Amino acid sequence: MEHPIQYRRAVAIIRRMLTRRSFLYVAAAGAASLPALSRFPELHAAQTDRLDLLIRGGRVLDPSSGFDRIADVGIAGGKVSAVRPNIASGAAESIDATGKLVVPGLIDIHTHAGREKEDASLCLADGVTSLVDAGSAGSDAIEDVVAVAKAAPSRMRVLINISKKGVIPEGDLMDLANVDVVATRAAIERHRDVIVGIKARLSKNVAGANDVEALRRAQSIAKPLGIPIMIHMGQTVSPLPDILAILKPGDIVTHMYAPPPNGIFGSDGKLIPAVTAARKRGVWFDFGNGRVDHWTWALAEHAMQERVLPVTFSTDWGQAARTDQVFNFGTVMSKFLLLGMPLNGVIACATSNAAKTFPAFKGRGTIRAGSPADIAIMELRSGSFEFEDNYKGKRTGTQKLVTTVTVLGGKRV
Ligand SMILES: [Zn+2]
Repeated sequence: MEHPIQYRRAVAIIRRMLTRRSFLYVAAAGAASLPALSRFPELHAAQTDRLDLLIRGGRVLDPSSGFDRIADVGIAGGKVSAVRPNIASGAAESIDATGKLVVPGLIDIHTHAGREKEDASLCLADGVTSLVDAGSAGSDAIEDVVAVAKAAPSRMRVLINISKKGVIPEGDLMDLANVDVVATRAAIERHRDVIVGIKARLSKNVAGANDVEALRRAQSIAKPLGIPIMIHMGQTVSPLPDILAILKPGDIVTHMYAPPPNGIFGSDGKLIPAVTAARKRGVWFDFGNGRVDHWTWALAEHAMQERVLPVTFSTDWGQAARTDQVFNFGTVMSKFLLLGMPLNGVIACATSNAAKTFPAFKGRGTIRAGSPADIAIMELRSGSFEFEDNYKGKRTGTQKLVTTVTVLGGKRV
């Protein structure tokens, strides 16, 4: 398994960024502190004639390579063909990105964009070029979500809910009869190209006392198939260590800043040892914004102080989130700028780190010669911006990331 190493590297990179705050604002002016271009030979391939698209003059920020400088991005045949300053080319189309950030297409690993057929397009407009529907449906209705994913303009993959009924108001797993191992496995095997893992929502109002048993059954399917499980943690009946003990490297814990009972911090405010152990063996911890009971500013601020950082952000996006708390991925990312995470780290959590969670996203989350030309052009706006947690707590930030242009597979959308 390569996950544990990748995980440690990802965390180490963000930690370094947090401690070296000077790395934060390596903007165009600070050329002396910028990595030398020669350190990124793969980034300036020679082929720049006959470009389809040229993104000119933006601050290209690619955490996967550490590249962060004003440059042009040349695109041909759906791929990045060159990243360097002043590409002279008669491209068919060009976009002026002066004053803007040019970052890899955003990857959102926890959404519910499989519910409506237009959802993926809405996310795409926000810069999200790859996304996961995380358990909206179980085996009963999975064909609908798979169909939406297949029709999506972007790269959409699906986690099947371990409850055959999917997300239901009365609680997906309140009745263990909803866990149909045979039907779930059959659905995954039918759609291995689209279904990339299993989702288990485990809080008390979703699973009651069935949390551990439902997760065990999910793992009995996932482990032999070599696919990850994403659990939704927080306010569970069972203690978090009992739940984490069932997770394997590569599994994902979303809603990591969920308030107690059974959050990641003990009553002494310290990270509980079972979380440290899970992180060490390669279980990923994801933010998962959502709208109900998933995080508070106080917990997120405490976590930042304790250096307990997410490896990935995600929105838990759905139609209701478009106008409430979440809005879009850029808004969720901006909350971490407010919390003090450096811009590079924020971009990494939404791109290069997220690309490592599912094999379907391998090779994405980067802007280098040869990589798929999925790109978000974002503005880092200055001003006064209010952001909300899940409990109506508000904080005012001075920066906001807003996607202005999305490029998918080399085409402006
Ligand atoms: Zn969700």
